[in-house]
Amino acid sequence: LTDRFQQAFRSLTGRGHLTESNISDALNEIRKALLEADVNYQVTKQFVADVREECLGEAVMKSVTPGQQAVKVVHDKLVALLGESAVPLELSGSPAVIMLCGLHGSGKTTTSAKLALYLRDKQKRKVMLAACDVNRPAAIDQLEFLGKELGVPVFLDRDLKDVPKLALLAVDAARKQGCDTLILDTAGRLQIDQDLVQELADIKRRVQPKEILLVGDAALGQEAVSVAEHFDQALGITGIILTKLDGDARGGAALSMRQVTGKPVKFVTVGERPIDLEVFHPDRMAQRILNMGDVVSLVEKAAEQFEEDEAKELEERLFKNTFGFDDFLGQLNKIRKMGGFASLLKFLPGMGNLPLDQHINDDAFKRIEGIINSMTVKERRQPEIIGLPRRQRIAKGSGVQVNEVNQLLKQFSQMKAVMAKLGQAGGPSLGGLFGG
Ligand code: GDP
Ligand code: MG
Repeated sequence: LTDRFQQAFRSLTGRGHLTESNISDALNEIRKALLEADVNYQVTKQFVADVREECLGEAVMKSVTPGQQAVKVVHDKLVALLGESAVPLELSGSPAVIMLCGLHGSGKTTTSAKLALYLRDKQKRKVMLAACDVNRPAAIDQLEFLGKELGVPVFLDRDLKDVPKLALLAVDAARKQGCDTLILDTAGRLQIDQDLVQELADIKRRVQPKEILLVGDAALGQEAVSVAEHFDQALGITGIILTKLDGDARGGAALSMRQVTGKPVKFVTVGERPIDLEVFHPDRMAQRILNMGDVVSLVEKAAEQFEEDEAKELEERLFKNTFGFDDFLGQLNKIRKMGGFASLLKFLPGMGNLPLDQHINDDAFKRIEGIINSMTVKERRQPEIIGLPRRQRIAKGSGVQVNEVNQLLKQFSQMKAVMAKLGQAGGPSLGGLFGG
């Protein structure tokens, strides 16, 4: 799948021109990838249609780097669908009550503990947990154990089977113990059923939690849609926590659940330890859905690579000796963004000796950029006209020593000389040199 996606992007980013047909190919791949990431079918369909329309629009087609733009469209749309940014918990009330619900095994109990830890340590809340999954003694033990481990009080009653009442007692207990936040761990089922819905609805009615969070396993796949729909209809959830993202689930469930409920994903869990809870970041999830742990960097690389036309033009300018500092800076910047800057640079004739050879970092780049920016437009095109007084001014303007300016000018002219020679000898392909 990764490969397919990368190919789709590559075929887009690698092209100077987008046509309707190559956009269609790429969109097909994107569609398949989304479906495989468990994004709901309808959602996928609409998504692809929207992307197509936007890609065929002027802004993308006429842009200098249409492939790059198309990738951006895909990514941005996905982020927008996932919800623009992290939505904080509603924590009013004393105590503020947060009820977790979800299917059996989705991660409610462990997530209750994670959330307790998060709210206590990150938001300085005084948290109490309440064991409202009363029918399985093991469930009560589990929460009790987690609470002890974290030093969070747990309200429980092994004999009381009236769950709404239990929840109310927990609210009282929280108040009495000065806890401002109460997290209710509830029962689940393998499948949502009327019993469960009734029980949860009763808790809701009696306790009026400010947050009702659906805990959903990222591995739910296409089933995520119906689960989210059911829970939301029955309870009016206020948000979603997506669990087990450390597994290989791609996170399409987040998109599906968000889409069918319109409720924000607020947190994700990424492991079994109590600290493995993270605030939800739509952009990270978009990357994950697009399988972009690598793809993003790959897309960036691909996008920064020279479009063929651009490389050709550059080649011509180099060999015609009209290659100036503006071109130079542009290329440096691109190479820098591609990474492996140092290793790439040494392939450039005459560049091996540049002061930035060993430690090519942002700092070195900024110095060079500073020097070049202190030159006039004319000087950048024809560095040979820069005499001593101007060198001094340039050094001053960019906050470096004159000899640094001298060195850059010298090496630039050497590089051009080598380029000119290579040009006469038939010339290398710059695409090959820069393209990495
Ligand atoms: P509940 O039935 O909804 O209360 O689910 P639990 O909280 O008991 O979790 C069920 C299982 O999933 C447990 O073994 C948890 O350790 C595991 N689990 C929960 N969240 C995560 C997670 O983010 N990553 C991993 N790897 N396992 C998780
Ligand atoms: Mg449980």
